[in-house]
Amino acid sequence: METKKDTPEDIAKGVLTSNPVDGTINKRDRKNDTADGGFDPDGLKKLRSNGKRHHDGNDIGGMEVGTDVKASGDGIMTIRVQKDKDGNVTGYGKYITIAHKNGVTTMYAHLKSYKYGSGTKVKAGQVIGKVGRTGNIGEKTKTHLHYEVKVNGKQIDPQPIHNWSMQE
Ligand SMILES: [Zn+2]
Repeated sequence: METKKDTPEDIAKGVLTSNPVDGTINKRDRKNDTADGGFDPDGLKKLRSNGKRHHDGNDIGGMEVGTDVKASGDGIMTIRVQKDKDGNVTGYGKYITIAHKNGVTTMYAHLKSYKYGSGTKVKAGQVIGKVGRTGNIGEKTKTHLHYEVKVNGKQIDPQPIHNWSMQE
């Protein structure tokens, strides 16, 4: 009989069986929780010294605009767009969230386009949209997918689940 309690990471691993994109993560950024691309589980609610919020996902780079983005697991997708008070697209830009089983949710940001509308049932590995540069991406910032995983509302580091290769 299994008595060990599954960690949020164990739960997510059981649900997220496909990688949303092939790409690489900047290793240097991950060591530095103040840099975009890193992940600091204790820093999510803190502010950086420059007043910006800590990064709360992974930036997976190394692909072109228009690359397919795939669902990480079976679930129901919702399409979203972040706008400021004047109606300009900002922040995450065009993005998708997927509600999976066992309280797992995923988020895919800065998309160029969506493949389906909200409420669509998708399967792991199914193409749901295209990599883009919508939202708050500086001109000098390389094209990437901003990706987040939550388990019962708690943010976890996606990297141990998907095991992207690291850039030096
Ligand atoms: Zn990001």
